[in-house]
Amino acid sequence: MKVAISACLAGQKCRYDGNDNHDIRLISKLEGCELILFCPEDYAFGSPRARMDLVQTAQGIRAISDVTGADLSMSIEQYAQTFFKMHPDIDLFIGKDRSPSCGVCSAKLYDKEKKLLSTEETGLMAKEAKKRGICALDAEDVISPIVFNKG
Ligand code: SF4
Repeated sequence: MKVAISACLAGQKCRYDGNDNHDIRLISKLEGCELILFCPEDYAFGSPRARMDLVQTAQGIRAISDVTGADLSMSIEQYAQTFFKMHPDIDLFIGKDRSPSCGVCSAKLYDKEKKLLSTEETGLMAKEAKKRGICALDAEDVISPIVFNKG
């Protein structure tokens, strides 16, 4: 099974602050799968970098820099489209929960005044996976059954 997964979950130091989100339990659960790592933000902006948020605008939901207010969406969307074109046979997408790029149904959405509108939004990379009909899960939803089973 081919699994596209946020690179930070596999230990790459590609977070906005130059750290990772290495999730050893999740990675061991995926043993035997072919993991294909991605990080749209590191590719487009490097690490470390300024944070961004999903903001509801007149042009739709956009990724806006916390520092400059610039719309950073296009670079992420282009990366996502290229990634899925290069890997047309992905069976499962696992995104880092709450990320404005990778979160599947857990990203925060704000309005222009920074009022929280939702905590169940889809990040821009995950949106492309869903658009292509790929089964997509937040990392926390892959790991939670293990916690449940262990009581
Ligand atoms: S959540 Fe996504 S964009 Fe953020 S560091 Fe991880 S892979 Fe990169």
